[in-house]
Amino acid sequence: MNGKRILLVEDESPIREMVTFALSQDGYLVDEVVDGQSAEAKIAEHQPDLILLDWMLPNVSGLELLRGWKRNESTQEIPVIILTAKVEERDKVAGLNSGADDYITKPFSVKELSARIRAVLRRGASIIGDQIRIGPIQLDSKAHRVHLGGQSINLGPTEFRLLEFFMSHPDRVYSRSQLLDYVWGRNMYVEERTVDVHILRLRKLLKPLGCDRMIQTVRSYGYRFSATQ
Ligand code: CA
Repeated sequence: MNGKRILLVEDESPIREMVTFALSQDGYLVDEVVDGQSAEAKIAEHQPDLILLDWMLPNVSGLELLRGWKRNESTQEIPVIILTAKVEERDKVAGLNSGADDYITKPFSVKELSARIRAVLRRGASIIGDQIRIGPIQLDSKAHRVHLGGQSINLGPTEFRLLEFFMSHPDRVYSRSQLLDYVWGRNMYVEERTVDVHILRLRKLLKPLGCDRMIQTVRSYGYRFSATQ
C-alpha cells in the first residue's frame, strides 16, 4: 500500500477494470468514475494525488475538464495524465498545452501506465498555463522569466531555452547532439562542446539553491534534468 490516491475518469468499463486492478496491485487507492460530473464530485470529496483522464467522455470532454481544473486554484496542482485513443500530434499538443503532465495512447500496457504514473508523481513538476515549476525553479515561457526560490534570475537566451527544454522533459537523458537539435535548431551549425559551455553557465545560475545538481551529467552520453538526485 503506497497510500497514493488516483482518480480514474474513464467511461469504458474494460479499461476501467484493467487499470483499477493493476493500480490496486501497485498499492494505489483508486477511485473510478465514468464522467466529468462524478469526477468533480469525487474530487470535492477526496483530493486525488493524480488524475488519469480519458479524452473522449460523454457530455463534457476530458480536455474541457482538464482546462477547468487548471483554472481552479484548488485543483490546478493535481497532476493529470491523459488517456487517449487519438494518436494525432495536435491532440497531444492540445492536452499538454492545457496543463496535462503526460499522455498515454490506447491501447497501453499496465506496465507502461504504472511507469508513467511513477514518473509523474516523482517529478513533482507542475505546469500551469505558461508556467512550469519543478522544485524551487519556476519558469514562465511567455514572460521569459525564471524565479529561483522566489528570486528572479537573469538567464541569457540560450540558457533560458535550455532550461525550458529540460524542465519540459525531465528525467530523460539527451545527448549533446539531441540538445543541439532541440534547443539550437537543426539548421544551426554549432559544435557539440558549445552545449557544455551553456550547461556550465546554466548550472552556475542555478547554484544558489543547489539546483545546479538537477542538471546531471550522464557519462559518455549527455545530460539529464531531474528533481531527484
Ligand atoms: Ca472514452
